[in-house]
Formats: sequence, C-alpha cells, structure tokens
Amino acid sequence: MNAVSTPPIFRLIVLGLALLTAIGAPAEPIGALAEREMRTLAADFPGRMAGTEQELAAARHLAGRLKVFGHGADLQPIEVRYTHVPAGGAEPVEFQGLSHNVVADRPGRSDRLIIVGAHYDTAASMTPEQAEAGIGGPDLQGLDDNASGIGVLLELAARLVDVEPEHGIRFIAFGAEEVGLQGARAAVAAMAPEQRERVDLMINIDSIITGDHLYAHAGPMTVAADPAHGEARDRMLAIAAELGVELKTNPGLNPDYPAGTGCCSDQVAFDEAGIPVVNIEATNWRLGDRDGFQQTSVSEAFPSGETWHNSRLDRIEHLEAHLTPGRLSERPAQVVQVLLALLQEQAGFGP
Ligand SMILES: [Zn+2]
Repeated sequence: MNAVSTPPIFRLIVLGLALLTAIGAPAEPIGALAEREMRTLAADFPGRMAGTEQELAAARHLAGRLKVFGHGADLQPIEVRYTHVPAGGAEPVEFQGLSHNVVADRPGRSDRLIIVGAHYDTAASMTPEQAEAGIGGPDLQGLDDNASGIGVLLELAARLVDVEPEHGIRFIAFGAEEVGLQGARAAVAAMAPEQRERVDLMINIDSIITGDHLYAHAGPMTVAADPAHGEARDRMLAIAAELGVELKTNPGLNPDYPAGTGCCSDQVAFDEAGIPVVNIEATNWRLGDRDGFQQTSVSEAFPSGETWHNSRLDRIEHLEAHLTPGRLSERPAQVVQVLLALLQEQAGFGP
C-alpha cells in the first residue's frame, strides 16, 4: 500500500507513530532503543576500522541518530596512524588517515562536566595470520565490542535530551579505540588543563554482551592518587544493588590489576590525565589470567572463552544463538537503568 491509496485515518496513525519514534523514544521500555541501535550499528556498519570509509560512514550515522534524538552532534577529526594488514593484503602496511569522535553536549548550569563515552570503531587485522583467521578486518560486526556500548550511549542521550542538569553531560562516541585509544587520547589532548579540572567523572562503556558478568571499575591511577576517586564506582555498585541488577567489580586476583580497578579501554586516557573514571564492561575476572580478558568459559561456541575482534564470533547471529536467551535485550537494559540513576545523582537533575 502506498501513501496515495492510504485512507486519511491510517495516514494520521502512521504520522503519529513516526512522531512517537522520533520524539517519544523514552516512552519505550528501558533498553529497547539501546538494543535496536546496537543491532543496527553491528549489522549495517561492519569493518569500522579506524580512519576507513566504513568508520566514517558509522560516525555520520551516529551523528544522524543523535540529531534525531534532539542533540547537536559534531564530528571531530583525529589524525590516526597504525600498522595493519588491509583487506586482501598479505603484508602489514602503515596506515595514515582521519578518524572522528562524535560529540554531543547536554549543557548544565555549572561549569562542571561529566563525560559519557563508548567507542564505535572495530579492530583492524594486525598480522597476516589475523587477517587470514578473520581477526579484525572488513567483516567484523563488533556487536559486543562495541556496538553494545554505543547502543547504551545513544539511549542515554535520547532520554536525557530534555533534562536540565546542574552539571553538563558530554556524550562522546570515540573513533580509533582499537588502535591505541587514539580517539580518547585526542579528546583528552584537546582539553586545556583548566578544562580537565572541570571534568568530575568520565563514564566508559565497552563490551557488555559476551561476558558472564557486568562490572564497574575505577581507574588505577586516579584511585592510587586518591581513593575518593573510586566514589562513582561505589555509588554505581550501590545503585545496581538497589535496582536488583547484578554488578561486580574486579576482585583483584591478579596483582597487576588492583581490586576495584579496570583497564584497557578509552577510560585509560582520562585516568592517566587525572580524571576520575568508571568503566562498565561484561567479562569474567575469575577466568584465565584473571585480567578480565577471558569473557566466559571455554566451549564449542567460544573456543578460547572470548569473542574479541573475531568476525565469526562477535556477530549477532552467533551471540544470539550461543549466549543465554534474552542476553541482547537484558544487558543494554541493565546498563541503561543503572547509568540513568548514576547520572541523575552525579549530574544533578530531577527524577
Ligand atoms: Zn572495545
């Protein structure tokens, strides 16, 4: 049926539904928007390697989604450089190009700021063996790592577009995480020392689907300098307990990773700059080297207990078929729920 032959009442209903989709997204159940956006980024934008056309297409898509939700959104270019094996290539080559951070601001009344970040790029193949095995490269959907974090970021942005927080909230979809956190490092470098001083907290969301358990960690450097910098993590754990969401922190079984702290994603760039962080991930810190790398038990579906950068494993069909039923809906909902409550407290806005 096309629009011309549609009776007026149906046209009105269709218009009403379209408007609801555009402005009424928060009326949906918590997590629904996050899951939908996660699936879209993974399915429609595979191979989002730093500085490639696919990464730029994903950045433009995300800016478009933020605009639909009512935000202004800027693409901030970052010069990136890394060694990789290009699609169809046999030898590593030096890549040089432009990646982008996608930034949207919800201004506050004070000059203080909370940053919510998640990377949208996927891994490149670093060696011929990796390229051959489909580790990184053009077919990688990166549903877990990290369309999942981007889905949560987009739902938070959609739900918070009309709030008037005491402290500003900045959403950053980072490019070039997989090649040495180059997007996050550029974002930190772009801030003058007095701007960094005004950031109360950086919240990072990376890979919340494959892992057995949800975790929240503080930054090892900021917490070593002042244990009070673990406060946001502790509040998050308390909020999750109140909401009945299972949330853990690193138990500290590996001395290289002190209890309550995490590692290895964009929050590291902020932790190194003295900015308090909390990073949210799903993995299993009791398995393997107890460094948070092994996400789940070894099985036929997960031969090394993880899906990192693997085009065959970190994809919708595989994860839907082999994780506990409902995981792709449940996890984004849990993280959105806990982060909404944390942001309400930390940024200061009404319920
Ligand atoms: Zn990641």
